[in-house]
Amino acid sequence: MSRSLPWQSSLSLLALAALAAHACLAADIVIHAGTLIDGVAEAPRHNVSILVREGRIVAVAAGVTTPAGAQVVDLTHATVLPGLIDCHVHISARLPGRFNALEYRLTHSALDRAFDGALFARRMLQQGFTSARDVGGGDETAAVRDAIEAGKIPGPRLAISLEPLGPTAGHGDPHNGLDAGVQHADWDFGIVDTPEQARIRVREHKRRGADLIKIMPSGGIASTGDDPHQQLMTDEEMAVAVATAHSLGMKVAAHIYPAAAIEHAVRAGVDSVEHGSFATAETFALMKSHGTYLVPTLTVYELFYAIARDHPELLQPGTPQKELANDLLPKQNLPLAVKSGVKIAYGTDIGEGDHAMEFRLLIENGMRPMDAVFAATRNAAELLGRSDQVGSVQAGRLADIIAVDADPLADPEALEHVSFVMKGGVIYRLVGRPTAAALE
Ligand SMILES: [Zn+2]
Repeated sequence: MSRSLPWQSSLSLLALAALAAHACLAADIVIHAGTLIDGVAEAPRHNVSILVREGRIVAVAAGVTTPAGAQVVDLTHATVLPGLIDCHVHISARLPGRFNALEYRLTHSALDRAFDGALFARRMLQQGFTSARDVGGGDETAAVRDAIEAGKIPGPRLAISLEPLGPTAGHGDPHNGLDAGVQHADWDFGIVDTPEQARIRVREHKRRGADLIKIMPSGGIASTGDDPHQQLMTDEEMAVAVATAHSLGMKVAAHIYPAAAIEHAVRAGVDSVEHGSFATAETFALMKSHGTYLVPTLTVYELFYAIARDHPELLQPGTPQKELANDLLPKQNLPLAVKSGVKIAYGTDIGEGDHAMEFRLLIENGMRPMDAVFAATRNAAELLGRSDQVGSVQAGRLADIIAVDADPLADPEALEHVSFVMKGGVIYRLVGRPTAAALE
């Protein structure tokens, strides 16, 4: 039995904050949504009630109704969406341009990076991101993931790849550009120079807690000495890495730029192409036919281009030239990807910083606003292999729910101002401010 409740009957904000502070999951919560974009349906719905019990969505009902005993969260003025998902983060990565990148790397340990990661994870959650995929880090990423999962620190649900796998002198080789005498035990954990080594590395990563595998088939941009236009892993190395990962239930994300290398990786069975900046219409058609996701990561290029132009001395030696030559290409290429119909998932390639700015970049470069939302909800959830848990506001899913006051289908920057964040039924942000649960 349910009845309508006027706005005045809602709990006071203070009471809601107290509710959140105690992470009290005993009482049912009903969210009154003025508009609901559920992450699955093409059309928004209006005046919907979302019932949350013990951290899960148990019903999504038409009309503004309040089941007996439920606490009300009044979002009748707002647009409610699923918690957002960033499929390409490096949770401990500092925003470029405020520190010298090489100096920071050489003067901070994995323990320092874990604390950085904890801070950036907390901020990500405040930005409305309730899940994320870390595609390149060390043991500190596992520590941050596990601390979030255990409720020790607030943050998005994390899936991690640990160190990306790639060849000596490739994009993932931390020795690049350094005196050969400078060594660190961790720096070789991702090195793969034979198919056999690929098999072993994937299994080692699994043992150390990886949820997925990241490979570096081509050179990259923000690294010293390698060429983003070259394929650096062999087709055989990729095939063995993918087969081993899949046999262990792990998906494979592949950092790739050149069209030919993308085609080889897609045929080897990778699940997503990260960046994909030099892809052609044929490449996207092949990806589409294989069901391979594209994660365009326009945010990182936007940020690095400006730093390379204004403060090249802060970037890795030898990389500003690569940034200036290549960073504008992904935006130019996005309309081709959109037109091709390839599946696109949302990713920023940052840790610290604004994870929501990718929406504006996607929309400005040819994506429909609703498709940008789908990229960060249902598509991202499918790429994570977690569609049954996250990425939509539907009965049975985890109660990962956000809201924005402006209309995200009309204003490309609306999602940069999230006013409400719930993860697993706990409220971490309300009326645009962190709740006690977010700070404890
Ligand atoms: Zn990355």
